[in-house]
Amino acid sequence: MENKLDVLIIGAGPIGIACALACKKNKLNYIVIEKGALTNSLFNYPLNMSFFSTSEKLELDDIPFISTNPKPNRDEALEYYRRVTTSNQLNIHLYESVISTEKNEDGFLVISEKRNYQVAHIIVATGFYDIPKLLNVPGEDLTKVSHYYKEAHPYLLQDVIVVGASNSSVDAALEIYRKGGNVTMIIRGDAIGERVKYWVKPDIENRISEGSIKVYFSSEIVKIEDQSVTINTPKGELTLANDFVIALTGYVPNFSFLQKLGITLSEDKLIPTYNKDTMESNVANLFLAGVVCGGTETHKWFIENSRIHATQIISAILEKKEGNLKQ
Ligand SMILES: Cc1cc2nc3c(=O)[nH]c(=O)nc-3n(C[C@H](O)[C@H](O)[C@H](O)COP(=O)(O)OP(=O)(O)OC[C@H]3O[C@@H](n4cnc5c(N)ncnc54)[C@H](O)[C@@H]3O)c2cc1C
Repeated sequence: MENKLDVLIIGAGPIGIACALACKKNKLNYIVIEKGALTNSLFNYPLNMSFFSTSEKLELDDIPFISTNPKPNRDEALEYYRRVTTSNQLNIHLYESVISTEKNEDGFLVISEKRNYQVAHIIVATGFYDIPKLLNVPGEDLTKVSHYYKEAHPYLLQDVIVVGASNSSVDAALEIYRKGGNVTMIIRGDAIGERVKYWVKPDIENRISEGSIKVYFSSEIVKIEDQSVTINTPKGELTLANDFVIALTGYVPNFSFLQKLGITLSEDKLIPTYNKDTMESNVANLFLAGVVCGGTETHKWFIENSRIHATQIISAILEKKEGNLKQ
């Protein structure tokens, strides 16, 4: 067991790192516990993705993020967050999963798969990229089905179905088409998503109208088999020849983990209970930071608009500490 810490941060995504920087700046004794690599979600993003944000919007603690183009790519973001971590000598344990926490007289006992930590405050910054929203159709567990997209090369000369109409689906469909895959998009709504990057939307719409990428709007997959996929369309059921399905229908925070920590969730959108000024949850001294706050509405939170959680939380913790000293 380590000596009592002021703060334990669960998750070393951009927002967990922002919280660590704020702790260090304010001389709080902290540790970050991360179950994978540093910024594990970004590490698992498509190899050729670029961010929709400009690099200064992804900066932490005003540390300059210099990128070749205004909107950085995945490699540049990994380089930036790595450099921020090493040059500030942040106290991060990688490849260590937090399993549970127990409240006690001194705060919390945090139990990871490797050791226990006694801490006064916890910041949960566990993000949303580990649990995909499932299609819940027969055949979804076949190895040809993936809920993540990495690169186009495996899909050369293959019949590929991309499910979804968001940025991720559109980027994957365009890249696979351009690298020689035969792409069909299955979209539940009647159009390409409104939030698709404004400079990419005309590209996908033109590829669809010229027939290079096929699309079924107002349609859903009903069954996946080894060499085919059955879809429900406004004109009835159709069976398409298929080699791979890439279902990019979004991701959700680990709700059962949040509930295990004692955090209550709203009934409709499973939004955790927290104070919008301090980010403190319904469990005293346990704070939420980053996209984990979003419930099922994860699209509302980005690095851009949640990096501020770090300063909100650390100010609240400092105020609490000052209050305790005066007592
Ligand atoms: C393709 C794509 C493009 C995007 N582009 C942009 C953009 O341009 N601009 C923007 O602002 N946002 C963008 N986003 C959103 C942005 O990446 C997320 O909002 C951001 O990653 C949230 O940061 P976070 O630190 O809250 O969570 P995450 O980055 O998801 O980090 C959470 C971390 O917690 C770790 N973790 C989870 N559970 C545990 C546990 N039990 N124990 C220990 N560690 C744990 C995870 O491994 C992970 O490393 C994009 C997202 C995607 C998918």
